[in-house]
Amino acid sequence: MIVLKFGGTSVGTSESLYNVKKIVESLDDDAVVVVSALGGLTDRLIATAKKASAGDKSYIEDFEAMAVRHYDIINDVVAADCAQLTRARIEPLLLELKQLYDGISLIADLPERTLARIVSLGERMSSIIVTDMIAGARHVNSLDIIKTEKYFDKNIAATELTERLIRENLNDGPYPVVMGGFISSDKDTGEVTNLGRGGSDYTAALVAAALNADVLQIWTDVDGFLTADPRIVKDACVIDEMSFVESMDLCTFGAKVIYPPTIYPVFHKNIPIRILNTHRPDAPGTLISEHPAVENRPNKYIVGISAIKDEALITMRGHYASDSKEIAGRTFNVLSLKGLTPHLVAGDNSLNTFSFAIANKEASQAVRLLKEEFAPELLEAAIEVIEMKSGLAGLAVVGDNLKSAPAMTDRLVSILEDAEIPILALTDKASETNTSFVISEVDVNNALLALHDAIF
Ligand code: ADP
Ligand code: ASP
Ligand code: MG
Repeated sequence: MIVLKFGGTSVGTSESLYNVKKIVESLDDDAVVVVSALGGLTDRLIATAKKASAGDKSYIEDFEAMAVRHYDIINDVVAADCAQLTRARIEPLLLELKQLYDGISLIADLPERTLARIVSLGERMSSIIVTDMIAGARHVNSLDIIKTEKYFDKNIAATELTERLIRENLNDGPYPVVMGGFISSDKDTGEVTNLGRGGSDYTAALVAAALNADVLQIWTDVDGFLTADPRIVKDACVIDEMSFVESMDLCTFGAKVIYPPTIYPVFHKNIPIRILNTHRPDAPGTLISEHPAVENRPNKYIVGISAIKDEALITMRGHYASDSKEIAGRTFNVLSLKGLTPHLVAGDNSLNTFSFAIANKEASQAVRLLKEEFAPELLEAAIEVIEMKSGLAGLAVVGDNLKSAPAMTDRLVSILEDAEIPILALTDKASETNTSFVISEVDVNNALLALHDAIF
């Protein structure tokens, strides 16, 4: 069994859809194919919803353009004798979309649940088109089998139930099965939800893990997992093999090629991931597994670098902060109870500070929680101040062998210093597989270029 996921970049145009068809129809194995919405469509669905709810009537033209795009693609990729049926399957979905847009335009509001229904239509439509394009394919509705539950204000996968439903519906053929990624429904209310932007990768991982697939193939628009973001570092190179942990570290720090939660379910089952290019299907791509071959790596210690923007740094200052173990324990406890996740921790005992980076959107809530938690220490001035700085980025240098590299942190610091990039915080051995820094967001591109140039 193989699970293949084709992202928006692979299903954006008729040309790339022909490649998808060729790839799937030439498989010898049973396969489940997970697809995203047509490239760029999710952004478009959201932007149009915002327009409609803000009273901008041009949402109607946007909607019509999206409808035309789907019909044009059907004409191109679905066999003529089947296209009429495909159009008839898409039509009610477009009607639903139009009604949702008209509704939010009328009430001049955009409730979160309605937005979730609107964005779900991207994958609901693309998965039908891809099914009808592929000979003998069977469509499965992801809303029926991918279930979520509330975790604070987020929807997270209800893993046990989802695993059971995947098995019940997909364990037996006929294959290939085609289903939409990203979309889901609440396990209690049945309301439409999703797994978060970029979440199709995660859908595919849940399916691969539940079916004990031999491999999870992530088909995208680059030749594999690269040593850095190719949109910034033009000479980034393909990583032949990497470990689950390395890929997890890079993705958590912003490598967009895989949505971070994706790795865990397959890692847990030791199912390898292969990243492949839909536009160059013969390229070997990147193999992510437990024990990657590392002999041919351009750098013995470092596999890749990545950066995550929109971060804030929260710093607590005062003599209590020198007890970094205790302050860290209490901090993580209070944040995790509300579903907040710090990304990188830095302490400096000599300066009596304890800092951590966290997503900007979670930072104000984190400060509020910490002020409550540490109210006694603030009162006694054992903690003098809890401050927050935003407009920052986290930068990670990743490699399983980093721990055995002599004086690596010093070397990385001097590369950044030579490039005149101020380091605002630096991990103190929080993980042995990555060294991470907090820098200003405006310095990200220069930092990645300087590090990549010096390392690879
Ligand atoms: P898809 O539509 O296939 O899900 P995404 O846009 O989500 O595609 O992810 C693929 C993109 O990730 C690539 O086009 C590339 O620009 C970007 N990217 C960022 N960092 C990396 C990296 N380290 N390796 C490969 N691609 C990366
Ligand atoms: N279509 C969704 C998005 O654009 C999910 C995905 O592509 O993985 O975020
Ligand atoms: Mg993606």
